[in-house]
Amino acid sequence: MDKILRINMSADGGPQAAAEALGAYAGMGGRGMTSSIVSKEVPPLCHPLGAANKLVIAPGLLGGSAAAMSGRISVGCKSPLTGGIKEANAGGQAAQVLARLGYAAIVLEGAPTDGNIYKILINKDGVKITEANNLKMLGNYDLIDKLKAEHGDKVACISIGPAGEMKMSAASVACTDMEMRPTRHAGRGGVGAVMGAKGVKVIVLDDEGMKMRAPQDPEKFKAANKTWVDGLQKHPVTGQGLPAYGTNILTNILNEAGGYPTRNFSEGRFAGHEKISGETQAETEKARGGSATHGCHRGCIIRCSGIYHDKNGNYLTKQPEYETVWAHGGNCGIDDLDAIAMLDRLDDDFGVDTIEMGATIGVAMEAGLAKFGDAEAAINLVKEVGKGTPLGRVLGNGAAVTGRVFGVERVPVVKGQAMPAYDPRAVQGIGVTYATSTMGADHTAGYAVTANILQVGGSVDPLKPEGQIELSRNLQIATTVVDTVGVCLFIAFAALDQPETFQALVDMVNSFYGLSLNGDDVAGLGKSILKMERDFNKAAGFTKEHDRLPAYFKNQALAPHNVTFQVTDQDLDTVFNW
Ligand code: SF4
Repeated sequence: MDKILRINMSADGGPQAAAEALGAYAGMGGRGMTSSIVSKEVPPLCHPLGAANKLVIAPGLLGGSAAAMSGRISVGCKSPLTGGIKEANAGGQAAQVLARLGYAAIVLEGAPTDGNIYKILINKDGVKITEANNLKMLGNYDLIDKLKAEHGDKVACISIGPAGEMKMSAASVACTDMEMRPTRHAGRGGVGAVMGAKGVKVIVLDDEGMKMRAPQDPEKFKAANKTWVDGLQKHPVTGQGLPAYGTNILTNILNEAGGYPTRNFSEGRFAGHEKISGETQAETEKARGGSATHGCHRGCIIRCSGIYHDKNGNYLTKQPEYETVWAHGGNCGIDDLDAIAMLDRLDDDFGVDTIEMGATIGVAMEAGLAKFGDAEAAINLVKEVGKGTPLGRVLGNGAAVTGRVFGVERVPVVKGQAMPAYDPRAVQGIGVTYATSTMGADHTAGYAVTANILQVGGSVDPLKPEGQIELSRNLQIATTVVDTVGVCLFIAFAALDQPETFQALVDMVNSFYGLSLNGDDVAGLGKSILKMERDFNKAAGFTKEHDRLPAYFKNQALAPHNVTFQVTDQDLDTVFNW
């Protein structure tokens, strides 16, 4: 991983690729790499779909190594959804393969003016860019089938569906999983629209003939990796709960806590929760010949995912995760797992973010376009997105646009990005993260659900404002580092509770790169990346008034606890004072 691959999509005579040394970006990976390049090279006031924006795709610092859980890939740019800096990350095989090919980042620059779309093939022999208009407007599943026929099933693909080609602000970037299915998405912030604006339909990565990346100190690295794996396996969440039930184990937990946003954030409990819970989902998957335990990339030992079959026992989609089940389920009043799985399949195929789409359908239901609980109507609305009808284009641009078009006040967004599956009134720590994250409303940016609800990494009362600022601040710093190292965020459950597991991660980075970082250095790295991102957003026009939840969270109490969001604006403004 000693070079950056730059691809100029508007070069004279057609797209041109050139590899260069890491230079000023040495020592960065994942989110640290994407945010560094975007901060330094993208004009903050540029149009996100214009030639001046750049799409940066980067494996984490441990990508391509033998480190367990190191398969996350970061996708960064100026976001068409938020107007600020964006990093969205995904699992799947792409990070490992790209890292083994020796690239710390791919940077897509410029924009083609010829109306063509392109396929980029990267292998040990170099880079080949070909016009691929025969792939135009294909869904991700058909696209990957075609590529499999041409390149075999050992490659990894990074692609967009029709939503990305139509430059919708909810468009995702898909990565293929171990079975070469396009199921792992860098979903948030419209990164797929930026890839579409660059005229790139798919990047095919083939690491045949390349080796696993080797650490500087193999013995220390091996020992740290063993401690790491042992720690993940012994923690009850990463060793038992997530493998058995996936992230959807949270449905019953959040419902019980009264923080499960129901029917467009109007209540905190959903009567149909048991029908769509992780427990029901796992039983259904097993009964139909699917699987309740499955990893999204080689080297994942938690395996929170699964395989969801339809009623006839045929593959439909990967196991919809908690956020997806909530977004298309309780948030829309839908308690039908098969309908939710179909919505997940459509989202993956069209290439849209399941959180943004579910929140958007919830807003559309509040506007009266369909009734809450009407699964068929929800499926038809998402199909409009795939077809690119005028209504579909409104919906495909997310909850904020849909709320404006249809005159809805209760629109759960921050910086234009839809909130995930935790109501900030009943989980106040996550409300601080939603409000202040550089990314817009994003649970992964500082997952305060840990201490608020799960009693992991401490305990902070979820209904009171006390302690939430510090909790969110520390988690936002730590998460930035996790996203830079490129390990799956779900390691945090074990790393927060078990100091030796956190230390093992630091030891892996140190032994891999021949460094001697300590905890303070690690925190310093996280703070410096957050500062870069905040500076970009400030230059793009963001002020402290953008670090706020919509007003209704302060003046509409949420049942069953009848609470409002209590953290003051003055306190929100101190999150980044360290
Ligand atoms: S724990 Fe889940 S999301 Fe994380 S790498 Fe494994 S399968 Fe993918």
